[in-house]
Amino acid sequence: MAVLLDGKILSRKIKDDLLKKAEQLRASGKRPPKLAVILVGADPASLIYVGRKEKAATECAFESKTINLPDNSSFEDVKSAIEDLNNDDSVDGILLQLPLPESLKKHEKDLLNLINPEKDVDGLHPINVGKLSLGEDAPIACTSNGIIHLLKNNNIEIDGKHAVIIGRSNIVGKPLIQLLLRENATVTVCHSHTHNLSEFTKSADILIVAIGKANYITADMVKENACIVDVGINRLGGRKITGDVDFASVEPKVNAITPVPGGVGPMTIAMLLSNTLNCYLRRENL
Ligand code: NDP
Repeated sequence: MAVLLDGKILSRKIKDDLLKKAEQLRASGKRPPKLAVILVGADPASLIYVGRKEKAATECAFESKTINLPDNSSFEDVKSAIEDLNNDDSVDGILLQLPLPESLKKHEKDLLNLINPEKDVDGLHPINVGKLSLGEDAPIACTSNGIIHLLKNNNIEIDGKHAVIIGRSNIVGKPLIQLLLRENATVTVCHSHTHNLSEFTKSADILIVAIGKANYITADMVKENACIVDVGINRLGGRKITGDVDFASVEPKVNAITPVPGGVGPMTIAMLLSNTLNCYLRRENL
């Protein structure tokens, strides 16, 4: 039986540590760290994610606030909300919840770039992306950072291993390249133009799948005793969530695997709060 890389348990530990730190700050007379989320429109999945982020912030005794903007908000409306938060000294972390409504999608990059890099808890600002690739201290994209924590905490050896990432998005695949290189893995990145995908997946000691296609990776595509990280979140009707990996067939063949749900997802939120605390500490010179 494969080891389950349980993100629920690890994220709870991380949040407990963050709570202790927030309590220490309060006890020493300091203000708590504060996360601000901008939600434009009412995308059902985004409403759930924002609710989870608020709940997690409260669990860690952080302050949080959500700025709800209507679906028909203009670029200027969102820009002004971001600028207000940039100028608000009590706010340490700013997150613009994606996806934006259709009419604003063309402005996504420009809006993300307006966030003060020192408050960019999603780690998506070009300055922070650049710092990550240079190995400098900066907020790191939450899902990718959560995956590295999950691997390390489960004593999965990364150094010298062949890590194959499927997916090259700015929020998951690309930051993972840098993080895995930092851990001395040999990294291969696959995407929708990759020929003979299974040739690559079968050579992976660590296979990280972030494509958004339910049960796409099957047992014949993975190496025996590999470690599998499933980032995918696919809703197959109703509330049931399925990953990109066919868990039932792959699990018996590998050494370690993340469940979906309960694997990478909870780690993403824990890393968001960890980034918020780190932004706070940098801003307060602590
Ligand atoms: P994107 O849609 O931005 O990127 C998907 C990537 O997968 C692209 O690089 C695409 O290639 C590649 N791809 C698509 N189909 C194939 C294929 N058949 N073979 C090989 N590569 C393929 O998705 P995200 O990175 O934003 O998210 C990926 C998944 O992870 C989604 O299910 C999302 O919901 C989930 N997710 C989960 C998070 C969590 O916290 N658990 C956080 C973020 C995302 P190309 O570049 O060529 O188009």
